[in-house]
Amino acid sequence: MRTQNTQYRVKPLKIAIFLAFTATLIFSFYTISFRNDWMFGFKDTFFHKRDSIHLKSLDYHGQDIKSIPLEELLSPSTNITGTTSLFLINKKHKIDDKSLFNLINFRDTSFLLDENVIDDLENLLDDVRQNTGEKVYIMSTYRTAEDQESIYEENPRIAAPVNASEHQTGLALDLYVSKKAQREFIDTDAGKWIHHNGWKHGFIIRYPFLKKHVTGIGYEPWHIRYVGKPHAEIIYKNRWTLEEYVYSLEEDVFYTINGYVISRQCPRNGKLDIPKELDDIELSPDNTGFYIITGKVK
Ligand SMILES: [Zn+2]
Repeated sequence: MRTQNTQYRVKPLKIAIFLAFTATLIFSFYTISFRNDWMFGFKDTFFHKRDSIHLKSLDYHGQDIKSIPLEELLSPSTNITGTTSLFLINKKHKIDDKSLFNLINFRDTSFLLDENVIDDLENLLDDVRQNTGEKVYIMSTYRTAEDQESIYEENPRIAAPVNASEHQTGLALDLYVSKKAQREFIDTDAGKWIHHNGWKHGFIIRYPFLKKHVTGIGYEPWHIRYVGKPHAEIIYKNRWTLEEYVYSLEEDVFYTINGYVISRQCPRNGKLDIPKELDDIELSPDNTGFYIITGKVK
């Protein structure tokens, strides 16, 4: 009787092991045969070392800081540039003020982009051409809420709902190389070059491999997002998403990196604290109730 019971218990375990083994085999076969994007993401995540870069916190004394009202900071009379480069957009943080984005045409095309993106995108496209010999084309930039609504209705499993898409800001764009679009973009030298070097021009791969639990969107090697310098470098080298980066910046702390100072602050009495030693200051809302100040040490 005892022996029979043991045999009876072992059987489901054997079946489970067999099923798990078969599923792994099928998944591996599918990935190796059809998903070059996953293969690239896997190799990059586990076998490609990136230089490390760490933010250090800075101590300023009271006399080194000036508290400036937000309206004054955002007025055109100051030499502070108001941007939206660090505006976080996802299903939790939707766009509720479309007037923030200053859209202009890219070169002589009908593609609309945020004005802060244009120069760095020009440089990115020139640089990728010089380094790979491949010409990268733009598939999509700004979309209206109506465009996003119909894209979402067509494919709710993949597309972001209305007001949760970065395409409604002009800060993000989809790229392709002749006949190689979407997940095939990473098969090209240009796709790989942008993956590893886009940060040099202020761009990140917004939806990296194995980060769907953070971004809500699976790996999209073709979708790049402008965040500016030095943020793109910090995000790339730490293998972060924009979500992880924004939340890594503790409130009211001043960080220093490569001659830049970065601080994430919530206005207190309508004012933000700006270190007096900063130049080329940019100020971006992050869409979580905070502003991110970026400046260079004079
Ligand atoms: Zn996109």
